Formats: sequence, structure tokens, C-alpha cells
Amino acid sequence: MRVAMVTGGSRGIGRAIAAALVREGLSVAVAARDREQVAKVADELRAGGGVSVLAVALDVTDATSVEAACARTAAELGPVDVLVNNAGIAESAPFGKTTVESWERHLRVNVTGPYLMTRALLGGMLERGWGRVINVASLAGLYGSPYVTAYTTSKHALVGFTRALATEVSGKGVTVNAICPGFAATDMVWNGAHNIAARTGRSFEDAVASLARMNPGGRLIEPEEIADEVRRLVGDDTINGEAVVLDGSTPQRRTS
Ligand code: NAP
Repeated sequence: MRVAMVTGGSRGIGRAIAAALVREGLSVAVAARDREQVAKVADELRAGGGVSVLAVALDVTDATSVEAACARTAAELGPVDVLVNNAGIAESAPFGKTTVESWERHLRVNVTGPYLMTRALLGGMLERGWGRVINVASLAGLYGSPYVTAYTTSKHALVGFTRALATEVSGKGVTVNAICPGFAATDMVWNGAHNIAARTGRSFEDAVASLARMNPGGRLIEPEEIADEVRRLVGDDTINGEAVVLDGSTPQRRTS
């Protein structure tokens, strides 16, 4: 049985990815900082038929925490074959109000986190000759838009990390890919919409609609669409170094 580890698996996109991998029959470690929330999600996934689901508390920015979480996952579920670097943060501000703390926080969580996780797990994948590293980046990893310089910079870096590492592991049974969704229906967007509403006086619903319209397809992406893409990348030996765009411009696919 393949083993997957999903960072940021406690809600939103990560939770949908963990659920999809459980449905595929993988053993799954659900990892995030909030211990109670990961335990709750792991219980729900087990109740939904997950044979082997582990709740792991970790902070992806902390090398010691990452090493301990990966060691625990290997000890309880077996060596990790599929790493989904999904944990991420997004804060918006005009460039002039982007603090160095916010800038560094984005780099630590969205870039150093995936680096530390991959560093901990890639060696084992290469030794076994099979593995998947899937980085949840963003359309902001490919294009620019205002008021999100720190987020955009971090996601461009994550796409660069993906492309560089993919060339290094090419032909060794391991693939490294990124998924680049537009605005998706999760807390991240609800929080952003609350901020827009507070700053502009517009309603929350208007703010959500304005974010949805910024996606080329004019609609929010569902977390399950991103999870579907993860399933596709797990099942494909040939796709490597891609930054797969999910911008809502195609009708929503649902395979589960
Ligand atoms: P979310 O609902 O805010 O969830 C973020 C997840 O990351 C939570 O499980 C959170 O749990 C975890 N996390 C945050 N910091 C962490 C840390 N230092 N260590 C470990 N876990 C941490 O976000 P989402 O919308 O599902 O986004 C998931 C990913 O998709 C992110 O990388 C995001 O940039 C990307 N994305 C989102 C959208 C969107 O519109 N929603 C669009 C494109 C890309 P704890 O707080 O408990 O740690």
C-alpha cells in the first residue's frame, strides 16, 4: 500500500487531497500545526473508510518538527511514497505596507516548508525508485497581480523549485510537479473576502464574487478539482516538471 503525507491536510484543499488519496486506497498522514484539528480530520477520514490514516502535528517551517513528523509517519504507516506540499499562507497588502515579517513568513511557510519536507523524504523515494512530490502552488506562481507581492514571490519560487528538482530526479522513478489553481473555495478566500469587505465597505458576497471573476473561468475552483489533479499526477509516471494550471476555464470535472 502506497503511503502519502499531505501537509496542510487539516482543512480546505489539503483535506480534500487527503480524502481523495484515502479513497484511492493509500495510507495517508494528515499533517498541520493544529493537533486537535488534524486528529479530527483523521477520525473523519477513518470513519469514511480510510484503512490507515495518521494525524501528525507539524510545523513545516521547523526542521526538527519536520524530521520528527516524517520519522513518525514512516514508523507508523511505512516509507512515504507521495508527498503533497500543500501547507501555505496568503496575506495581502499593498507593497508599501508589506512588512518584512509578512515577507519572511511567506518565504518560510510556502518555500522553505516544501524544501524541508522534500529534503526529509526524497532520499527514500529515490532509493526505492518510486515517488511523487506534488507542490500546491498557485496561478500566483505563474502570473502577477496587485497587493500580493510576498505571496506571488513565494509561489513563483515554489514553481521554480519544482522545475529545478524535476530535472534532477528525471529518469529515477520520482516525479516532481506543481499544481497552480486560481482562487479556490476555502478559508483562504473567505478570509481574503472578509478583508476586502472591511477595507472597501463592499459586502462579503460581492468580495467573493470579485475574486471568482479574477479566475479566467470566472468561478472559484473547488478543492476536489485540485484533489483530482493530485490523483492524476500520482497515477502518471510520465508527467514531470509541470506546473498544471487549474483556472476554472473548463467545466468542473468530478470523478468521485
Ligand atoms: P487554508 O484553508 O488556509 O489551509 C492551510 C493549511 O495549511 C491548514 O491546514 C493549515 O493548518 C496549514 N498550515 C499553515 N501553516 C502551516 C505550517 N507552518 N506548518 C504546517 N501546516 C501549516 O488554505 P487552502 O486554501 O486550503 O490552501 C492550501 C494551499 O493551496 C496553499 O498552499 C495555498 O497557497 C494554495 N492555494 C490556495 C488557493 C485558494 O484560493 N484557496 C489558490 C491557489 C493556491 P494549521 O494552521 O493548523 O497549521
